[in-house]
Formats: sequence, C-alpha cells, structure tokens
Amino acid sequence: MAPPMSTAIAIDLSRIRQQSVLQIAARENANPLVDARFRLLSTLQTSLDLETILDLFKQELDTVMRVSGCSYVNEPANFQCQMGETEMHQCAYRLITQNENLGEMIFYRDTRFNEYDMDSLEVLLSTLLSPVRNALLYRQAIAASLTDPLTGAGNRQALKSQLAREISLARRYQQPVSALIIDIDKFKLINDTYGHATGDLVLQDLVKVINKVNRSTDLCFRYGGEEFVVLLGNTDKSGAQVIAHRLCHAIAESRICSDSGLLQITVSIGVATITDIDTDESLLNRADKAMYKIKSQGGDNVAWL
Ligand code: GH3
Ligand code: MG
Ligand code: MG
Repeated sequence: MAPPMSTAIAIDLSRIRQQSVLQIAARENANPLVDARFRLLSTLQTSLDLETILDLFKQELDTVMRVSGCSYVNEPANFQCQMGETEMHQCAYRLITQNENLGEMIFYRDTRFNEYDMDSLEVLLSTLLSPVRNALLYRQAIAASLTDPLTGAGNRQALKSQLAREISLARRYQQPVSALIIDIDKFKLINDTYGHATGDLVLQDLVKVINKVNRSTDLCFRYGGEEFVVLLGNTDKSGAQVIAHRLCHAIAESRICSDSGLLQITVSIGVATITDIDTDESLLNRADKAMYKIKSQGGDNVAWL
C-alpha cells in the first residue's frame, strides 16, 4: 500500500492570527463556519470529559466541512482517541497554549486540504484549546485522587471501583477473576534497621517489580502500609497460582539498591478466585486469610483459599 500523502504541517496554535475569524467571516458563504465557532464556544463548556469534548468538536466540524475522521493523541497524558475513519490525506495540528503542549490533532480525508480548509480548521481549533486544557487537568486530578502518591500504585478507592468493575465483567461474561494479596515479610524490621526513608524506597521498588512481572492489564493497588493487591482479570485459580509464584520468586530474587547497600525482601502472597457467591469483600477476605496462612508458615511463599 502506498504511504499516506500528508500535508505534513504542524501548526503552533498559539500563533494563530487573531483576525482569522474576521477574515473568514468576511468571505462569502462563511456564515456556517462562524456560526459553528460560536456554537462550539458554548457547547465545549458543557463537559470536562476529554472524549466527550472531542466528540462534540467532531460533530460540529461535520456541519461545516467534509472530513472523514480525526484523531487526537497526547502521549504524556497517555490518551488517544479516534473519531471516524483515517484517509490518504491528513492535516496535523499541534495544540499549544502558553508553551503548554496539549497534544496533537490530525484530520483525515480522501482529497487534499487547501488553504481555506486549513484556515477553517484553525478557526474551529482555537475554540478547543481551553476546554482540552481543562479536561486534561481534570483527568490529572482524577488520576491523582486514585493513586497512592508514594508508590504510584492505585489506592484503596481505585481498588474498590476496579474490583466492582472486574466482578461485574466476570459475571456478565462468565469469566474468572482472581485477586492476590501481597504482604512484605518483616517489613517493620527494615524500617527499624535502615530507617523510614529506606522503607519507603523498598515499597516503591516492590511496586516496580510487580508491574514489571505482571501483564499490563493486571492492576496493582496499595491495600495498606506494606500490603498490595493485584487484580487478575480473566484469570482462573491455576493461572493466578502461576502468576503468584512468579511474583514471589521475582521479588525474592530482586535486590533493592539503597544507601545501606543492596537489600532483599520476601513476601507472602494469598490467592483467591471468585465464586458465584463472592462479593468484593469476601474475595479479598479469602485472599487475606490465605496470605496469613502462608505468613504463619514462615512467609516467602504462596497460598490459596
Ligand atoms: P509480617 O512479617 O508479619 O508481615 O510483619 P511486618 O513487620 O511486615 O508487618 P507489621 O504489620 O508488623 O509492620 C508493618 C510496618 O509497615 C509498620 C509500619 O510502620 C510500616 N509502614 C506502613 N506504611 C509505611 C510507609 O508508607 N512507609 C514506611 N517506610 N513504612 C510503612
Ligand atoms: Mg501487613
Ligand atoms: Mg508485613
């Protein structure tokens, strides 16, 4: 397949000509564009959800211009979204405001974009900057409210909502879901011997190891001081046991580089797989009981209930 032809322009919207709207308004048949711009100025204020905002923008764009689709990508925010179809010809805009990169928007269609099209896109895009910026800040605030600041793992609130989602998916699609509770063995001794800051480093390092070993879909949450939960979607008991043993082994094998030298920790892991009568609480209780069972036998191992 031939590579897509692209106008390959990236425009810094902070340099958009202020008089663009007036120039365009003065053109014949420009009223639909000016009207769309004014409608966008108000409709884009109605949501803080990034996807909704982009969707509203595309709907309004469709009223004034023939575009097959558009995509928005913001790598630092780990967000991308595609509306409509991609096509041979594309026109790319970098959304920048006050030196802040708000991501990139690409428009697609089967014929070239001309000067007039690009002027029109710029006029409409200028209405998108503040709403996108606000939506990105909102996403950051939501993410922060669900994240443990020390380790970057999800917090208890995030665990609660993710577990509810996993259990409802499991019920709807008749899929298994498993939970692991991971508790560091004799963690208090690390704090007492090397200090609290080193203890913090150990917690951060443990989450790194867990995330390295796990699939990206297996989410890690801080359940308590030195206890973590890993949710394993679409994973039955034997799959969860394999993952738990792999984690237990990887944690015991890894070394934590601290001011006091290389440190080693071990963990006790309890595994539970959902049954028909489980609630989120009863699933975690079983994993917790299993974890205490193995802890009472010396730790550094896995048990399931
Ligand atoms: P066990 O092998 O039975 O699990 O013993 P343990 O020492 O790991 O567990 P215990 O519950 O006795 O102690 C947990 C310690 O974790 C006590 C608490 O001070 C410490 N802790 C909790 N949160 C943090 C934290 O954010 N940072 C640090 N450095 N320590 C923490
Ligand atoms: Mg504990
Ligand atoms: Mg412990």
